[in-house]
Amino acid sequence: MGSKFDLIADNALKTVSDAGECSFCGARDVPIYNIEGFDIEPGQYIFEKFPEEEGVYEMEYACEDCIKSGRIKLFSENDFEDVVKKYCREPEASVLKLRKTPSIPFCIQGDDWAVCCGELCEFTGIPQSYKESIALVDTHQFWSRGPQNWKTFWSFEFTLEPESLREVSTFRCSHCGKEWFIWQSS
Ligand SMILES: [Zn+2]
Ligand SMILES: [Zn+2]
Repeated sequence: MGSKFDLIADNALKTVSDAGECSFCGARDVPIYNIEGFDIEPGQYIFEKFPEEEGVYEMEYACEDCIKSGRIKLFSENDFEDVVKKYCREPEASVLKLRKTPSIPFCIQGDDWAVCCGELCEFTGIPQSYKESIALVDTHQFWSRGPQNWKTFWSFEFTLEPESLREVSTFRCSHCGKEWFIWQSS
């Protein structure tokens, strides 16, 4: 578990250097993280759409306090709702946990998060080299909105050499230690 955010390993945690201030509380001179969402009362709108007629727009930068207060409903929360309902032992608690986590894994095709042993895994970062990325398909389990078999998921075989290594996110289960990866091509 990360020391700041449970679901992000310390060495995978990244701040936004040019954000200036927290979009939610206006704090300056504190670390700012990327998280796109709506300002809500903690606990509101779980598995419910944010009422857009309220005319409030999503904001994208937040300080640690705002993230941990649970006042942010993630903009793309509906992307992972099915995953959480299907694989997490406590779906609501898991949504609340993701709300308290910066949006660091790169998910251009919609938010996704590896789940193992009924709980959200810890995001551990991205591969540091192509060599590492290529090896992942043998050492890690493949996740794409659920556990998948890398060898049969695609209709043709290829090595994992994405345009950018950022497209690959790795995760670790804090119960059984199994490691996972998500690849979303940009
Ligand atoms: Zn703040
Ligand atoms: Zn596990």
